[in-house]
Amino acid sequence: MKLARPASTKDSKPSNWAGNQSCDPVTIEQPETTEEVAAIVTRAALRGQRVKAIGAGHSFTSAAMTEGVMVDLERLSGLQKLDTETGLITVGAGMILDDLNLKLDEVGLALPNLGDIAVQSVAGATATATHGTGTTLGNLATQIVGMQIVTGTGQILQLDGDNQPDLLRFARVSVGALGVVTSVTLQTVPAFNLHAVEQVVDLEATCEDIEDFLTSSDHAELFWFPGTTTCLTKQNNRTTKQPEPPSKAKYFIDKIVLENGVFDLINRTSRRFPSTTERLRKLMVDAASERELIDKSYRVFASPRHVKFVEMEYGIPREALGEVIGRVNAGIKQMETAPLFPIEVRASAADDIPLSTGYRRDSAWVAVHQYKGMEHEPYFRMVEGIMDDYDGRPHWGKMHFQTAETLAPRYPEWDGFAQVRSELDPEGVFRNDYLDRVLGVVES
Ligand SMILES: Cc1cc2nc3c(=O)[nH]c(=O)nc-3n(C[C@H](O)[C@H](O)[C@H](O)COP(=O)(O)OP(=O)(O)OC[C@H]3O[C@@H](n4cnc5c(N)ncnc54)[C@H](O)[C@@H]3O)c2cc1C
Repeated sequence: MKLARPASTKDSKPSNWAGNQSCDPVTIEQPETTEEVAAIVTRAALRGQRVKAIGAGHSFTSAAMTEGVMVDLERLSGLQKLDTETGLITVGAGMILDDLNLKLDEVGLALPNLGDIAVQSVAGATATATHGTGTTLGNLATQIVGMQIVTGTGQILQLDGDNQPDLLRFARVSVGALGVVTSVTLQTVPAFNLHAVEQVVDLEATCEDIEDFLTSSDHAELFWFPGTTTCLTKQNNRTTKQPEPPSKAKYFIDKIVLENGVFDLINRTSRRFPSTTERLRKLMVDAASERELIDKSYRVFASPRHVKFVEMEYGIPREALGEVIGRVNAGIKQMETAPLFPIEVRASAADDIPLSTGYRRDSAWVAVHQYKGMEHEPYFRMVEGIMDDYDGRPHWGKMHFQTAETLAPRYPEWDGFAQVRSELDPEGVFRNDYLDRVLGVVES
């Protein structure tokens, strides 16, 4: 069984949400304090063991997998400090975003943006530059103003605006390579409501001015059905109107039965009986419907995901999006059968975090998915080949086939990150197979 917190599966190997990654750590530690984390890292380093922190195990890559010591921060996930005047909140790094959202809501605060789900841990989500959509909003790591981190030598560092601010800039997105983050201070905003509008539209018409679409709302995204010209747009705008959430029964029917249950059935049927795929695709497109609601921001941003899939997502320069959609569409037409899973398109603002996928680039995001147990590699490689032509940066927590060699030219401060890594983790305690592939081995 796979749990949201994989390390708590005591009698089976930890595995990720999608079930495509698992590992066999020598031990799983659940420290309660930063000092305990420091002791774990020091002990492991002396024994020549590797250490890897795991969040909620929601990465599709093996970023959090290890055959060494796995550090699960479930017990380091409490509220540490809250200032409602400034909106600054400090939490244990293992806190789950859903819990953070509820804590913030109680005091009239919120995160300015979220991705599609909120079951990740704060440290895990920020370590991979998890993002939502909104042309003026950076990824979740851009909200970090301070953090505590245990380095590869067991040293505890407090990083913030006054203490080694440049190191903080590097540590905000580190894919777990710089140390075990034990607490995170985030800048939040006053709580807000969103007016959500979902519409079924023509992809080509929307792509005629895709920039206009993306900038037309605070948070705009689209889901396009491969093999068709139909897409579902979601436009969320801040509103001062009061929430009018759907009833529990309607929520259950829309989100659990239709978005998850029926969608799962459609995919399962297509996997088992491929000849039904085109009929199922039509059924799915016909079922896409318009919707409108007003609710608290975090309840609009995130929704439950019960259908298991694997995903690859690329950030590209926003101005290239229209062309890229056209090329992906052409590539799909060459496939024997177009995938059923909708392709998600989003946007985010540039930032100054060296390993952030949005580093100094206003980005558009194109995410492709494949249902569990179905072949994904030729499809993902075809899309990745297109993204390569635009210096595409793959999401650190989602599948891709890049290596340190191919990624380095896409990150102007790559060498600076490598230098920081060799200072904070000179012996490569935090190495794992994924980091060896995508960042290279630590140079001491
Ligand atoms: C259904 C689904 C929907 C998703 N939707 C989105 C989305 O909308 N937008 C988006 O951008 N991404 C999305 N993702 C990807 C997801 O947000 C990232 O993969 C994220 O990293 C998962 O967080 P986690 O807590 O599960 O981290 P893990 O997967 O457990 O770990 C991720 C990385 O963080 C490191 N890490 C974790 N904790 C610490 C720590 N305390 N100190 C140092 N390093 C640490 C791990 O070592 C690893 O390298 C989605 C994933 C799934 C499965």
